[in-house]
Amino acid sequence: MAIAEQISLINKQLNDSAARLIVVTKTRGIQELQETYAAGAIEFGENRVQEMVEKQAVLPKDILWHQIGHLQTNKVKYIAPFVHLIHSVDSLSLLKEINKQGAKNNRVINCLLQIFIATEESKFGLDFAEAESLLADPAFAEMQHIRIVGLMGMASFTENESQIRTEFQRLADFFQQLKNNKTGVSTGLVEWTELSMGMSGDYLIAAELGATLVRVGSAIYGPRH
Ligand SMILES: *Cc1c(COP(=O)(O)O)cnc(C)c1O
Repeated sequence: MAIAEQISLINKQLNDSAARLIVVTKTRGIQELQETYAAGAIEFGENRVQEMVEKQAVLPKDILWHQIGHLQTNKVKYIAPFVHLIHSVDSLSLLKEINKQGAKNNRVINCLLQIFIATEESKFGLDFAEAESLLADPAFAEMQHIRIVGLMGMASFTENESQIRTEFQRLADFFQQLKNNKTGVSTGLVEWTELSMGMSGDYLIAAELGATLVRVGSAIYGPRH
């Protein structure tokens, strides 16, 4: 099916949820991204810095670029001038670097804390206690060029739907708890508005459980090579 049809189908499915579609464009060519933009989508997710920078240079300037993959500290400077939201903040040192590059570019960079909710060992992210201590850190209170707007998480890669539900529910509960207690609000720039969870295989579950952003690639373009 054509890209535009898939996007419109997914947008329809998300219609009565709070979730917004981020089209995951990693590994896809410029022409596919142009087609995606022509279909009306403007929020694109990439996981490699170099690829995002190359695409951003040649595509329309109103595209909102989401960094969804693990981000190395030494790469932050390349995306700091334009990135819309970094989903993958998993340490205070990364946050410090984003703040520094935000200052250089005279902007406030929106970030999500990536929370580890899966059972696999390979996935990046903080556990709940680590996230809370990061938010309470005096160094975070000093940062004027980052704004934490929510959480991101990835469920285990499994066919077991009830496991996926349990993992997303834990993340949604933690998000609600931070929001209700206004955690971090007194120390740094924090707004608990975005919950990024759900990919091609599980975005409907995520939307049902309160995601505000779903990150979908292969359900739109087909499998990656
Ligand atoms: C690749 C990727 C996605 C999208 O994966 P699909 O299964 O193709 O939808 C979502 N989130 C992250 C963090 C990714 O790396």
